Amino acid sequence: MATNVSPELLIVMKGGATAEQTENVVARLSEAGAHARVTRGREATVIGAIGEQELLTSLPLEAYPGVEQVLPILKPYKLVSREMVPDPTVIESRGRKIGDGWFGLIAGPCSVETHEQTLEAARVVAAAGSTMLRGGAFKPRTSPYSFQGLGVEALSILRDVREETGLPIVTELMDPRHVEEVLDVADVIQIGARNMQNFLLLAELGRIDRPVLLKRGLSSSVEELLMAAEYVAKEGNERIILCERGIKTFETATRYTLDLGAVAVLKTETHLPVIVDPSHAAGRRDLVLPLARAAAAVGADGIIVEVHPRPEEALSDGPQQIPADEFADFARSVIEVVTLMGREIG
Ligand code: PEP
Ligand code: MN
Repeated sequence: MATNVSPELLIVMKGGATAEQTENVVARLSEAGAHARVTRGREATVIGAIGEQELLTSLPLEAYPGVEQVLPILKPYKLVSREMVPDPTVIESRGRKIGDGWFGLIAGPCSVETHEQTLEAARVVAAAGSTMLRGGAFKPRTSPYSFQGLGVEALSILRDVREETGLPIVTELMDPRHVEEVLDVADVIQIGARNMQNFLLLAELGRIDRPVLLKRGLSSSVEELLMAAEYVAKEGNERIILCERGIKTFETATRYTLDLGAVAVLKTETHLPVIVDPSHAAGRRDLVLPLARAAAAVGADGIIVEVHPRPEEALSDGPQQIPADEFADFARSVIEVVTLMGREIG
């Protein structure tokens, strides 16, 4: 649904409204030149109407049979809001699921360094029942002198490793010029914290048919994160996973400050799955487990965690990566909380 006008009204149908009554409202909206997006939720059917504000408000929608109430969408984000889509969205890839009752356990190395290193990590991650494998090919590094990732070579390693383990691949896209190459391999495209407000990149992803994992900017508000997601959704791609990965505050005891409050807020504001990256937030491996368990407890829909066969040799983020031989215990401990929350690994 590519459009230049924003959805402005929500038409909530009565519990007992018939499909015909809903179709009738949709037809009336279409006649008025508006676009209608119907969501058949567990509680009620909701129609989001996108169109000229004045035209929309002049329609006597409340008088239509089956209509319970008509509400304006007051939030600046529309398509990603919970008002628009009352039921939680589930993101599926290669039979794995994230969202609603499905907790996504995404794990793997910070960077793809070699075939062996990636495969070793992937095998451990798969054996622990993880949902997806992460691994950076293009790395957004603070210093231009740091390892920048293997690029295209890493993508072909990821493809091989997927073949061996069956795990869907999550990898970062930094540059719109690499869309095709990354799309060739990535099952989920990661947008890093530093690119959260790269609006051209976001719009580009809105036009493709692949789930997007959008990380919160280092100094971005919850609303800015949701507006970034709206950029993707507005172009037609509503398969978005949001990720809290820690923000910059005065506190330096951890690498970033993990904002678990934001996760709780996001869960009320959006229908999109919300996951947590405890690795980048903590910056040190001994804190990753408690933050991961806290994420599960606060209601996150998953975590994305860095795992390396030999963290001391890692080309990026060594101090925060969990040694592969400790990952089974790590996963078990997180799953305890996931189970307590009434969820299952997707
Ligand atoms: C990463 O996931 O490796 C990464 C660079 O994360 P962020 O964009 O959150 O810093
Ligand atoms: Mn990293």
